[in-house]
Amino acid sequence: MRHRVLESRQSKCLMLPDIENLLKLQDADKEIRRLQDEIAEFPKRVAVIEQQLAGHKAQLEKAQAAVKADEAARRKYDTAISDLRGKISKYRDQSLDVKTNDQYKALLHEIQFAEKEIGANEDKILELMVNADARDKEVKAAQAELKAESAAIEKEKEQARLRTAEDEKLLAEWRGKRDTMRAGVNEDLLRHYERVSKFRGSGLSEVRDQKCMACRVMLRPQTYNEVRTGLQTIICDSCQRILYFNPAEEMLDLKPSTTRVKRHHPKIDAPQAWYYRAEWGDIGEVFLCLTTSRGQSSRRVYDVHTGRLIGDILIREGDYRQAFPEDITGAMRLNGSWTEAELDAFGTELPMVALDSLRFDLDHARHEAAAGSHSKHESQTVPTEQAAS
Ligand SMILES: [Zn+2]
Repeated sequence: MRHRVLESRQSKCLMLPDIENLLKLQDADKEIRRLQDEIAEFPKRVAVIEQQLAGHKAQLEKAQAAVKADEAARRKYDTAISDLRGKISKYRDQSLDVKTNDQYKALLHEIQFAEKEIGANEDKILELMVNADARDKEVKAAQAELKAESAAIEKEKEQARLRTAEDEKLLAEWRGKRDTMRAGVNEDLLRHYERVSKFRGSGLSEVRDQKCMACRVMLRPQTYNEVRTGLQTIICDSCQRILYFNPAEEMLDLKPSTTRVKRHHPKIDAPQAWYYRAEWGDIGEVFLCLTTSRGQSSRRVYDVHTGRLIGDILIREGDYRQAFPEDITGAMRLNGSWTEAELDAFGTELPMVALDSLRFDLDHARHEAAAGSHSKHESQTVPTEQAAS
C-alpha cells in the first residue's frame, strides 16, 4: 500500500534528469573529497608514529652514550691507578738512598698518599661496575622497545600504503564517473552548480515543508509548486542553490506527525477529526473532515483519489459526534489537523501534501488494524468507529 502511494506520487512529481544527474554528481563530489581527505591523512598519521619512534631512538642513544662514558671513566681510573703504583715503586727505590730521617718520613708520606688515591680510584671503579648492570638493562630494554616499535610502524606504513593505493584507485574511478555525470548536465546549470558549490560547499538543496533546507528560507507558494512539479530548474532566491524535491523524503516527514515506526493516534476529544470511509453514498472512497467550533460542526468530504471537495460544506448544530453520527459509524479515524482558515484556503481541492499525509496515515492505520494489536487506542482496537452518544 505504501508502495502504491509512493509510486503514484512519483509519477506526479517527476525529477528533472539534470537534477538527478546533479544529485549523483554531488554524491561523486562528496566521495572524491572524502577519499582525498583520507589519502592526505595517512602520511600525517605515519609522521606522528615516526616522531614517537625518533624519541625512543634518542633514548637508546642516550643510554648507549652513558655506557661509553662509563667505559672511558673506567679507563681513566685504571690509568690513574697504574700511574700511582709506578710512583709508589719509585718512592720505595728512593727510600733506600735517603740520608735523613726527615727525608724518609717525607717519602713514606708520599707513598701513603698515593695508596689512598689508589683506594679512591678503586672505589670509583667499583661504583661503575655496580652501575654497569643497570645501564646494560636500560640499553637492552630500549633496544627491544625500538625493535617492536619498528616492526609495528612498518606494518602501519604498509597498511597505509595499501589503503592509499586502494583509495587512489577509487578516486580515479570516481573522477571518471564524475566526468561522465558532468557531461550529462546542461552546461549553464553545471557552471551554476559548481560556482555555488565552491562558495557554499553544496550546490543543491532539498525543498521540504516549503522551505529551502540549506538556507531555511521559506519559498513563495508558486516557487514551491514549480519545484514540486519538477518541470524546470528552480534556484533558491536567497542562497542560489539549485532546488529539488524528493517525494520519498517528504513521505517520512509529513504533517501532522506520523512516524514510520509507531503511528501517532488521534485524540478522541480533538475539535477536528478526519475519517476514511471505503463507501460513501455512491462516490466510493472518501476522506471526511469534521470540525467543531463554538457549538457548531462542519463537514467536508473529499475524494480519496483526487483530493477534490465533494458537495457543499455542511454545517449542523452541536458537537460533530452528535451532528454527524451516520458519517462516523464504521469509519476509520485518521490523523489530520488543519485550521479552519487553512481548510478554507485549500478551497475545492486538498493540496498534495495534505492528501499524501492522509493517505500515508490511512496506510499506517490499515497496517495497524491488520496487525491486530490490542490496545486501548481507538484506531488500533477498532478500525471502525461507533457513533458516540
Ligand atoms: Zn536557499
